[in-house]
Amino acid sequence: VQQKLTSTKHPYPDWKAGEPVPYAALAKTFTLIEATTKRLEKLSHTSLFLRQVLRLTPDELLLVIHLMINRLAADYEGVELGIGESLLMKAICESCGRTMNKLKEDHREIGDLGEVAMKSRNTQQTLFKPKPLTVKSVHAGLKEIATTVGTGGQTKKVAGIKKLLSAAQGDEAKYLVRGLEGKLRLGLAEKTVIVGLSQAVCVHEAEKAGKKTPSLEAMQAAESMLKEVYSELPNYEIIIPEMMKGGIMKLKDACKLQPGVPLKPMLAKPTKAITEVLDRFEGKRFTCEYKYDGERVQIHYVAPNSSIAFPTIDPKKGIAKIFSRNSEELSPKYPDILAALDKWVKPGIESFVLDCEAVAWDREEKRVLPFQQLMTRKKKDVTVEEVKVKVCVFGFDLLFLNGKSMVQETLSVRRDAMHSSFEEIPGEFAFATSTDGQELDTIQSFLDESIKASCEGLMVKMLDTSESYYEPSKRSRNWLKVKKDYLAGAGDSLDLVVIGGYHGKGKRTSVYGAFMLACYNPNSQNFESICNIGTGFSEEMLQKLHAQLVEFEIEKPKPYYMHATGNMQQPDVWFEPKVVWEVKTADLSLSPKYMAAKGMADTEGKGRGISLRFPRFIRERDDKKAEDATSSSQVAEMYKKQDVVMNNMKKGGVDD
Ligand code: ATP
Repeated sequence: VQQKLTSTKHPYPDWKAGEPVPYAALAKTFTLIEATTKRLEKLSHTSLFLRQVLRLTPDELLLVIHLMINRLAADYEGVELGIGESLLMKAICESCGRTMNKLKEDHREIGDLGEVAMKSRNTQQTLFKPKPLTVKSVHAGLKEIATTVGTGGQTKKVAGIKKLLSAAQGDEAKYLVRGLEGKLRLGLAEKTVIVGLSQAVCVHEAEKAGKKTPSLEAMQAAESMLKEVYSELPNYEIIIPEMMKGGIMKLKDACKLQPGVPLKPMLAKPTKAITEVLDRFEGKRFTCEYKYDGERVQIHYVAPNSSIAFPTIDPKKGIAKIFSRNSEELSPKYPDILAALDKWVKPGIESFVLDCEAVAWDREEKRVLPFQQLMTRKKKDVTVEEVKVKVCVFGFDLLFLNGKSMVQETLSVRRDAMHSSFEEIPGEFAFATSTDGQELDTIQSFLDESIKASCEGLMVKMLDTSESYYEPSKRSRNWLKVKKDYLAGAGDSLDLVVIGGYHGKGKRTSVYGAFMLACYNPNSQNFESICNIGTGFSEEMLQKLHAQLVEFEIEKPKPYYMHATGNMQQPDVWFEPKVVWEVKTADLSLSPKYMAAKGMADTEGKGRGISLRFPRFIRERDDKKAEDATSSSQVAEMYKKQDVVMNNMKKGGVDD
């Protein structure tokens, strides 16, 4: 990588310094990245191209990064691609002069709508050679399409897509259409783009300073810096300009967690028994908290006229915002929480970011209500007066206080700071109930109490040393979850994407009677089939699910759906990857029929996937996107942790 990065030879069509980056150069890079399955090669193509951008048109680095990760703005700005297949097909037909029947025929044969668009475009006779696309024009075009709403929105979107497609040449149409669909399918994870960016910047800086190629250590330091800064402040629009201005190694001083920019939350690892918790935390101090069953909310607050100013916040107004675990803004859903802040934020607290769980609350009985109650709340345009399902906020972590990031403080320090900054108001705000007792009996009875209080179980967290620092976006071993039904089943439920459906039989002919579910593999960016499910649904539920899912029916499985073909029974219909369900299972087993974590856990080298035995529907998780579903490596980990597997492995075999 080091050698390649400093080379002046590069495989992309060149452009002159200062000129806009041609989209063709990016598309060529995408083709190279797609053509290899090796992560290091993908990384090398990424950094080499970014290096070229830095050399010739550094001003467009941000736009290039956005197109590489196929997100046009930070998550919380709500600019979403993911245009439905039918709209895209319409636009392809119209811009390439094809009939829908012919296009569908191609789609059935080829499978990938991007390839279909490329073929349609490249066989089209055109009188004039269109003006070449640039990264800038594509970014602007996509942003306009993604943000178009209101009456006539669909027509405007089609017009926007047609405009881009009619200028596309070579393989550009393929990536444009895939980008619009929401999946570039390059097998290029965002993590790799971040590493590639750090390498390119590191070499570029050395070159500008007239130094020779940076050492491996310097490159690694740059990589850790960018990763750390991005995890605290996930916004390239702030980070990239700062990096260009002050250099990559100064980023930490300039870019710190700040209210208004939500960070990806820290997550927990599942456990199967309290003894596992004790094994993990042996000799360390830890705390057990109730695991409330509601919606995770991150509250960001800066008081008006706060003594510390923040670059992106109007000092006179300050901010009060709520974000979801996916960094989507939830303020319109919870105006009641925002309206009550004054009551529970103590005087003198000028700015904070608080990690909490919003839970449906019965004010008369003074107790937690089931998660399903919370889900009945409207999501938008809610006024405080019309809120029927009241919520109580349970605070469990403090990430920022009075101008200072707290993530690199121990949990004991963060917790003390939280306790002294907020006041409990019955039924509105409370601190997560906790015990620091370290004995097995204490934990067992605390778990029982948590269940009586309608919680899901416990969260057990490291209290001291750097192991207890807040780790944004990480599923960490320093947080363990113990769910009430950990003894039965796999220790934890799974969150899976509905990718296929089977028409019902008998009484159920007008609805889907069963479904195919998939987990997500963030490395390959594929959805991998894991089970068929037909239990846990009431008749009424099936009706509802039909009404919801019929909207997402598509002609063919997406090319990024990994499922067994051949003589395996195929779903009658396929769906866009939109709906996530929480599912419980008796256990996980190896299976040649399913693709989840294929080959990752099969110690006999038969390349089998993992499937769920007796899966049961629990509920919809509409707070999760398809990409937040349980990952293949989590599935493999759950499989490996099963006692049966452990025992069989000891005996030398694996249960099929
Ligand atoms: P699930 O919520 O299904 O367990 P998840 O993937 O959403 O899975 P996990 O890391 O598995 O997240 O569990 C942590 C979740 O539990 C948090 O995201 C939060 O919403 C919730 N939670 C409830 N109480 C607490 C608590 N005391 N500390 C941390 N998280 C809590």
